Order: sequence, then C-alpha cells, then structure tokens
Amino acid sequence: MAAARFDDVNASPQQQRLLLDVADLDRRIQQAEHARTQPANASRINELAALRQTQLRELTALTGTLDDARAELRRLESDVAVVAQRRARDAERLASSTNPKDAQALESELASLARRTSDLEDQELEVMARVEESEAAVAAQQAVIDATTAEGTELTTQVKSAMAAAAAEGERLGRDRAAVVSGMDAALLADYTRRAARATGAALLRAGTCEGCRMVLSGTDLAAIRQAAPDQVVSCPECGCILVRTEESGL
Ligand SMILES: [Zn+2]
Repeated sequence: MAAARFDDVNASPQQQRLLLDVADLDRRIQQAEHARTQPANASRINELAALRQTQLRELTALTGTLDDARAELRRLESDVAVVAQRRARDAERLASSTNPKDAQALESELASLARRTSDLEDQELEVMARVEESEAAVAAQQAVIDATTAEGTELTTQVKSAMAAAAAEGERLGRDRAAVVSGMDAALLADYTRRAARATGAALLRAGTCEGCRMVLSGTDLAAIRQAAPDQVVSCPECGCILVRTEESGL
C-alpha cells in the first residue's frame, strides 16, 4: 500500500487552506463549462429538427395528393361545362329542326349527353370528397409540424438562455478564482495545478478520510501526517491530491 507522500513544496497552513477554495471554484467552473458546451435538451433539439424534416416530407406528399385531386376536379368541371354547352346547342337545334330524322338523332344524342352529365356529376362528388379528405389531412399535418416547430423554438430559447447563464456564471467564478489565487504562493499553486490536471488537485482531510477520493487513510499514514510540519505539503496516497489539514482532520 502506498504511504502518504510528503512533497518538496512548503506553504503555510493558511496558504494550503486557500487550495480548498480554488478546488471548489475549479469544480464549479467545470460544471459551468459543461452546462455551457453541453446544455441539457441539446439532443432533443436535434431530434426535433430531424423529426420536422420527416414531417415536412409527409406534408409534401399529402399536398401532392391534394393537388392531384383538385386538378382532377377541375378537369371534371371543365368536362361538365363542355357537355352542358353541347346539350344547349343540341336543344336549340332540336327546337328549330324540321327534319324528323335529324330530330331523332338529336334526341338520341341529348339522352346520351344527359347520361354523360350524370356520370360526370357522380365522379365530381367522389373527387370533391377526396379533396376535402386531403385538405383535412394537409391541415392536420401542418398542425403536427407547427407543434414540433413550437417545441423546438421554446427549447432553443431555453437552451440559449441556460448557455448564456452558464457562460456568465463561468466568468464570475473565473474572476473569483483570479482573486483567490492572486495572493497565493506560486510554487504551491503550480503543484496544485499539476495534480488538478489529472484529478482533484486538493481536498480536505476530514476525520482521517481524503475528501478527494473518499479513502480512509491508514493509521500509519495518519501517524506520518500527524508528525509532518504544518507547512509541509502532504498528499493522498490513493488519489494524489494535496491533503489540506484543518481542525476537522482528526489528527
Ligand atoms: Zn484521495
């Protein structure tokens, strides 16, 4: 088992205690940075953007079906108009016809045109029903897209606001940290920075336990630390962080 290590660095107990503030600030700066760069809901916003693309493609297909049905309806209306003109013309001719053979032919054609009109009108009703269904489907799909857009917009606003708050918090903590370290011993701070690059840089030794890694130090380690001078910097045998001793340390 590793033993508590004594460093070459010496610093007053007051200086060493400042490391607890620096370590706490560094932890909160990291949290703020994480909140700024990887905000909650960012993945949901990406999901919504992809979902919206799918929904827009469905809308395009539904709009195409509606356009087809409307075009078909216009064709039928045009056919009905053509047949109506022809019926009017034939009726005029019949009224002025003096030849019985011509009149018979016209009556026969008028009967055929009446059946054609009836067929076209039946088709018109059927296509009108399809147009209405398609219009309803397009409106429903548009509502689905609107809901997706609204959720995305709201989440984006929330995320931007959270990111701005995290950035402001990070800057505030950074200023606090600069104020704390401005009065600190450079060698001690360098020692801390080197350790902090790997894990926790410094932690309180509380009741014989390293608060950096939660390891309970052995009696041998505690005895060694107890004998170390107050300005001797000592570190955790488990995680390597600087162990800051206070009246809570249980030494
Ligand atoms: Zn530790």
